[in-house]
Amino acid sequence: MSLLLNKLQLTASLFRPSLTKKVIPMKFIHPTFVKFDEINENNDKKHPKIPPSKDRTKIIPVEISIAYLKSSAYKTTYGDGPVWQIYRRNFKGQYAPRKTRKMCIRGGVVSTGSPCPICRDEYLILDYRNIDLIKQFISEHDGRILNYNTTGLCQKAHRNLHVAVMKAKEFGLLTYEVPYLYYNYQEWNK
Ligand SMILES: [Zn+2]
Repeated sequence: MSLLLNKLQLTASLFRPSLTKKVIPMKFIHPTFVKFDEINENNDKKHPKIPPSKDRTKIIPVEISIAYLKSSAYKTTYGDGPVWQIYRRNFKGQYAPRKTRKMCIRGGVVSTGSPCPICRDEYLILDYRNIDLIKQFISEHDGRILNYNTTGLCQKAHRNLHVAVMKAKEFGLLTYEVPYLYYNYQEWNK
């Protein structure tokens, strides 16, 4: 008798789904979904929460950057080589792009997964007073600024580097060689 009743209930439930117990989908119960919702609870879509490692709104003075380049923390991260030596850019596909990216920081936030060697470290500031940093981007053979393809700097940082180098040369902080010209004055005095 009970079996029959059960079967009747089942058939009834098929025809009237509103009477049966509502089944909650798995995704609402799953703990990972709960966590995901908790994390994104405070975040608005217009003002998303920025992780502190990608936030670049804080202005760091040059004096701190100069002191950082001489500190032990800098030596443990970069060693004795230049800043760009251990950098390798991520790119899609098998061929690297011809040019480096336009900029790494957009609106005070790091917008890429592999920012360039200057943008990834917030304590590296390109300034005409920061000679230890600028010298790493100048070729020791001919005294010219290294190409962005070798250093991996983004176009914006590369432009800032040019400005810093020119300014440092004008202020006399950076020494460079000028070719000495020999004139034959005998031709002039004739
Ligand atoms: Zn950059």
